[in-house]
Amino acid sequence: MGFSTIAIHAGNEPDPTTGAVSVPIYQTSTYAQDGLGRHKGFEYARTQNPTRSALERNIAALENAKYGFAFASGMSAIDSVLKLVKAGEHVILGDNTYGGTFRLFNRVLSNYGVEFDLADTSNIADLEKAFKPNTKMVFVETPTNPVMTVTDLKAVSELAHANGAKVVCDNTFMSPYFQQPIDFGVDIVVHSTTKYLNGHSDSVGGFVALNDEKDAEWVGFIQNSVGAILSPFDSFLVLRGTKTLAVRMDAHDRNGRVVANFLSEHPKVEKVYYPGLVSHPQHELAKQQQKGFGGMVSFETGSYENAKRVLEAVKLCTLGESLGGVESLISHPATMTHASVPEETRSKLGITDGLVRISVGIEDVEDILEDLDQALK
Ligand SMILES: *Cc1c(COP(=O)(O)O)cnc(C)c1O
Repeated sequence: MGFSTIAIHAGNEPDPTTGAVSVPIYQTSTYAQDGLGRHKGFEYARTQNPTRSALERNIAALENAKYGFAFASGMSAIDSVLKLVKAGEHVILGDNTYGGTFRLFNRVLSNYGVEFDLADTSNIADLEKAFKPNTKMVFVETPTNPVMTVTDLKAVSELAHANGAKVVCDNTFMSPYFQQPIDFGVDIVVHSTTKYLNGHSDSVGGFVALNDEKDAEWVGFIQNSVGAILSPFDSFLVLRGTKTLAVRMDAHDRNGRVVANFLSEHPKVEKVYYPGLVSHPQHELAKQQQKGFGGMVSFETGSYENAKRVLEAVKLCTLGESLGGVESLISHPATMTHASVPEETRSKLGITDGLVRISVGIEDVEDILEDLDQALK
């Protein structure tokens, strides 16, 4: 079956009690039992909820995974996956992950004896040097935020597996429509459903998709034991969101390409970061690994003052954090999403004070271009 068919039908079987075509919001904390030890498979709503299970079947299918678990946020999904690692074990973390992921390792997991090192996962030689005898996991993001560095998922998976480590890929930027990491050998996929999967900037959530039965059992056990579950209402919203994932991603991709081309020819713009541009150093790899390039575009304005002027002059684009919604959002990574990254690391990664990031929405692209043009002028 094709992607859109799976998106619309997986997990979305008509409700068995009424025939309702849309999965109902099962807003309940508990379930009546028929007798002692006799129930319908539902005992308590932290453990099982039909709306959440429908979403879990849906996104697992979209990621070509057997198992899926929905969490209260992208961060709680990532934290639950990291509970596969024990004190004294080592993780290699991409050197340009989402700021919250770095903070989780640096400020939280390090207190519990989890060791980690940063590596440029787009550079296999650099990554190879980071392995230690106790390395159990490699955590990658591709393309990275905000400078759009692409990591070769197949090469990383082969290297990690040869060293006895699992690979986790944060697939939030691409969504399963444009990139299915499991097909390249990745073991576990994580998402912030807050972004493209829900797609309408009205819910916070996270997801874990994987194939290994033992790991899935443990992630499910953690989901129930720690309890950072996605609510029935949010599960409903994300399930509604994934039905239109394909059409939305195609529109983000179409607009993203037009905006990236426009910016790369604009006299006020010094540099554009977008894997869809032929000038992107990893354009060929991105073409092989991704089915599209999406709607995330970053560009260099040259200085903090220039960036500030652009960010405060836009009218249609909304100044704000987050991404992946139908509306265009614009942000300043150095002072917003990446403020907690030390300045030295920021400049090494190219996250300068003049860098601006746009999550290109699905408005009419002429209106987005006109807004950016007047702001740049
Ligand atoms: C937003 C984001 C997260 C964190 O997700 P929340 O839903 O905000 O907890 C993790 N990874 C990436 C790539 C993100 O963009």
